[in-house]
Amino acid sequence: MPSVTTKSEKRHRVELTSSIQYLKGIGPVKAEALKQIGVQTVEDLLYYVPRKYLDRSTILPIGKLQEGIVATVIGRVEASGIKRVRRPRKPQFHVILRDDTGYIRLVWFNNWKWAPKLFEENDLVVASGMVNVYGGYQMTHPEFEIISKKSEEDISGDDLIHTGRIIPLYPSTAELKRVWLDSRGFRRVLKPLLKEVPELICETLPEKVLTQENLSSLAYAIREIHFPEDTKSAEEARTRLAFDELFYLELMLALRKQKIHREEGIAFNKPGDLVRTLLKTLPFQLTEAQRKVLREITKDMMSKNSMHRLLQGDVGSGKTIVALFAMLIAVENSYQAALMAPTEILAEQHHITIHKLLESLGVKIALLTSSVTGPDRKGVLQNIRDGTAQVVIGTHALLQENVEFERLGLVVIDEQHRFGVLQRAQMKKKGASPDILVMTATPIPRSLALTVYGDLDVSVIDSLPPGRKPAKTSVWTESSKTEMYQLVEGELKKGHQAYIVYPLVEESEKADLKAATESYELLKENIFPNRRLALLHGRIKSKERETIMQTFRKGEYDILVATTVIEVGVDVPNAAVMVIEHAERFGLSQLHQLRGRIGRGADQSYCLLATNYPMSEEAKMRLQAMTATNDGFKISEIDLKLRGPGEFFGTRQHGLPELQIADIIADARLLYQARDWAFRVIQEDPKLNQTENQCIRSTFLRKYKKKFSLVDIG
Ligand code: ADP
Ligand code: MG
Repeated sequence: MPSVTTKSEKRHRVELTSSIQYLKGIGPVKAEALKQIGVQTVEDLLYYVPRKYLDRSTILPIGKLQEGIVATVIGRVEASGIKRVRRPRKPQFHVILRDDTGYIRLVWFNNWKWAPKLFEENDLVVASGMVNVYGGYQMTHPEFEIISKKSEEDISGDDLIHTGRIIPLYPSTAELKRVWLDSRGFRRVLKPLLKEVPELICETLPEKVLTQENLSSLAYAIREIHFPEDTKSAEEARTRLAFDELFYLELMLALRKQKIHREEGIAFNKPGDLVRTLLKTLPFQLTEAQRKVLREITKDMMSKNSMHRLLQGDVGSGKTIVALFAMLIAVENSYQAALMAPTEILAEQHHITIHKLLESLGVKIALLTSSVTGPDRKGVLQNIRDGTAQVVIGTHALLQENVEFERLGLVVIDEQHRFGVLQRAQMKKKGASPDILVMTATPIPRSLALTVYGDLDVSVIDSLPPGRKPAKTSVWTESSKTEMYQLVEGELKKGHQAYIVYPLVEESEKADLKAATESYELLKENIFPNRRLALLHGRIKSKERETIMQTFRKGEYDILVATTVIEVGVDVPNAAVMVIEHAERFGLSQLHQLRGRIGRGADQSYCLLATNYPMSEEAKMRLQAMTATNDGFKISEIDLKLRGPGEFFGTRQHGLPELQIADIIADARLLYQARDWAFRVIQEDPKLNQTENQCIRSTFLRKYKKKFSLVDIG
């Protein structure tokens, strides 16, 4: 860091990497506040873009206002102060705003402690909100912004910064506002800085990308994003910057994919007798979709490069059997295969189904979960170590250090969205460059998939096995419960089985369990006295749990009352009804997963969503979505809209990068274009050595490498 001391030097030494502290108008205090939001260098500041713009051409003269419209007005503060009225008793805060055509009262009924200090006579204020008329125009709790203070002398001159036709509004926090970095503060700092932009900014995209995609130059974009000429140039600027961000994100993925593909892996021989025999003994034919993905997987496995493939398919699409074939290929080549599932119940189920299918083929299978203990565990670990166990099925327990494989050739991870990035990497390390197949039922919009799984190859099972009828879904209230249980009884009479699911929320696990247990007793004694019921939850010992599941599978229980332990993967085709109690408490993807437990046989199935009030608006929308569609893809899109990408993916562990400007969903088109370019560039110039790509190389190393390093998957 060059030492910057004198004022005259300051102006000339500004570089993108300079600390903002040395900029005009930013001292240590502001610098510290900005640091808190990740803005440390001049470059960071330039990329701190407005959250929206105020277009003055949409501002109404106060005299033109009408009752009931939502409007934006601009005016000077004529008076402001605390107002005591008789009813309601609480003091209010009023601001009178005047322009050439009239005045309007801004009113705050509560939470206005900050206000008296803020407004001064003659401040120029813009306010938006619903217009009411109470002896004059009035807005209550308007959105507002102080555009300039009376204390700033030259309101007419320099202040055009703040009052051009399009006024940028910056995201700010209470902390920032305290050090005068509200929108106005940002505008004051940025305006002079932007004068230097042409010299500071070096272009980050090659000429041909700019021309072919019709993008503006970076210098133009940075200037216009802050102080746009008009709304069109603001939009152009945003597009250019969003493209940049997406391009570098995809570039990182392209680089990673390239690295993975170069990695030497195992070249398996083509499928042999085991695979052929299983195909013949299978009680059903593979669907065309299953055969297609199996071909893709086989091809990967036979290639000498290691496989990193995602198998995506909605709940019930038949992913397990595909994985099983892949595992057999490994076994035929004298390698071990491992299948990791997120819950014990699912691992146990996989163990049972796979055991049934492979028994006659003489393939040795082992199950390892944390419930396998004592001498059993010792034996299993030994079998895994010496290679006796050819197919190993388990939970997170497989990740433990003392689990050593003799010759691990294939890792399958079921319901991969339940695992973190590190866990997948850990599993891979259990072998010498084993092939990896990750499976998920969480269908996500394509643009998101390209980001989150952007460095994996993707196979999709896009149709369900034949003869499946989508479950009929309906919502029930407390008052209609009797009727709902009658519907369940009707299905039981036909020889079907039912699930009744209770929520289990971690914070109150104990209370939830109690509720589930009590309801179970109630159901058993009062509602279904002649039926065979069982209760299943996570606290029940594994041996007992296995017995319960087995008995249910055999049809010897009519109703399985369960917590969400059955959410993922459980497969009992004769179960045709599912009641989800307190359905309003479940997330959308969880509801869809749960519903995926039924509709696995040929008969019509029913998903009954039992609800209790009060219910949030969002909960209503979730239930509405559930009744509207069975399509996992549509469900996930709605889910994404309701929750936003961050929440949707749970946490950062799933590798969704934080983008500052681009929006993966809204900018999907831009993403595809950026991805095409990024992958093409890397294909043509894998090391970014060509002259025309130097700007990419340096930008990536300087700006994006660190930022995106968290993005990892598979
Ligand atoms: P998921 O993709 O949700 O993991 P599963 O692998 O559990 O789905 O399969 C769901 C059910 O469909 C299982 O009972 C399985 O035996 C059955 N199944 C799988 N493939 C076919 C097929 N081609 N034809 C008929 N049933 C199938
Ligand atoms: Mg499954």
